[in-house]
Amino acid sequence: MLELTDSGLYCAAGDFHIDPWRPVPRAVITHAHGDHARWGSELYVAAAEGERVLRTRMGPDAQIRTVAWGEVVERNGVRVSLHPAGHILGSAQVRIEHRGEVWVVSGDYKAEPDPTCTPFEPLRCHTFITESTFGLPIYRWRPQAETFAALREWWAANADAGRASVVYGYALGKAQRILAGVIDAGIGPIYTHGAVERLNADYRASGVALPPTMHASAGKKGDFARALIVAPPSAMGSTWLRRFGPHSDAFVSGWMQIRGTRRRRSVDRGFVLSDHVDWPALLAAIEATGAERVWVTHGYREPVVRWLREHGLEAEAVMSRWEGELESETVAEDDSGGGDVAG
Ligand SMILES: [Zn+2]
Repeated sequence: MLELTDSGLYCAAGDFHIDPWRPVPRAVITHAHGDHARWGSELYVAAAEGERVLRTRMGPDAQIRTVAWGEVVERNGVRVSLHPAGHILGSAQVRIEHRGEVWVVSGDYKAEPDPTCTPFEPLRCHTFITESTFGLPIYRWRPQAETFAALREWWAANADAGRASVVYGYALGKAQRILAGVIDAGIGPIYTHGAVERLNADYRASGVALPPTMHASAGKKGDFARALIVAPPSAMGSTWLRRFGPHSDAFVSGWMQIRGTRRRRSVDRGFVLSDHVDWPALLAAIEATGAERVWVTHGYREPVVRWLREHGLEAEAVMSRWEGELESETVAEDDSGGGDVAG
C-alpha cells in the first residue's frame, strides 16, 4: 500500500506522501521535527494537537489542514487517520486502511508517560513501519523520575556554589519535557534560549503546563547564579553562554546513556532522557500491533530486522532520509527562534 519513492513514503492509491523530504502536492506529517516536516509541499495534513508548533516550524504561508485524533479522512477509497505517537506535542502515527488491509507508520514514538503530549496509542495493523533510533539491546531507559531527581540535585549543587546550570535539549519537545519535569521541583529562576522560548509559547497556547520561564536576554549579570538555563544543542560552546558567567552544563538525551557520546559532547554532565522507545519498548510496541510485516527505518535498522526475522516476522530495512534528529536539530536553531523554519 506504501512504496518508497525519491520523495519518501508514497501511497499511490490515495495519492499522498508521508513525511516527504521533497516538495509534493499532499504531505501527511507525523510531527514537526525538521527531519520529518520539510518545507515546500502544497498541502500538509497533521494532527490538530501540534498545529501551533508545526506552524512555527513551517512558516505563515504553509497550507496546513489539521485533523482530530482518530478522525478519518477518505481519499480514493483509502481511509487515513492520525493517532498519538507520544513523541512530542502533536506527534502522530498514520493509519492507512484500504480494502481491509491496514498499514501504520509510527513516525518517531515513545511509550513513556510525558505531560507535554498525548500518550502513544497501540494500533493493530498488518504492516507496521517503525523507527529504530535506539534499536539496540543496550538502550534501556531508567525511570524518568530518577533522571529528574538527578537533574534537580545537580542544579542545587551548582546553585549552592553560585554557578548557573545550563541544560541542552532540542528546542522542540525535549526542552518542554525538561521544563514540565521540573515544574514542582523548586528550581528557579529559569531562563531560556530564544528558540526554546518561542516553542514554549506554542506549548502553553496548546494547553501544556510549563513552569515560568524568561528569555535569557531578560536577565542581567548576577541574576544567573542560581538559574537553570534551557538551550538547544547549537548553543553549546557558543559566545551566547558568556552572559551567564560561571556555569556548569549538561546534555539531556537518550544518547547520554553511552559514555563515549558524553565525552564527544564535552559537557560536564549527561542526563538520559529520550523521546524515543528503548529496546524493550520497541519490541513491545511491535508485538502489540500484531503485524506480520515490519519495515524498519532510520536508526539501528539491521539489528532490529535480524531480531524480528529470528522471531518469525517478515521484516526489512527501509532507507529513509529521516536520519539523525541529533544532527538535524543541532544546526540552524538561532536565538531568534525563527531561523529553523526549514531545518
Ligand atoms: Zn522526531
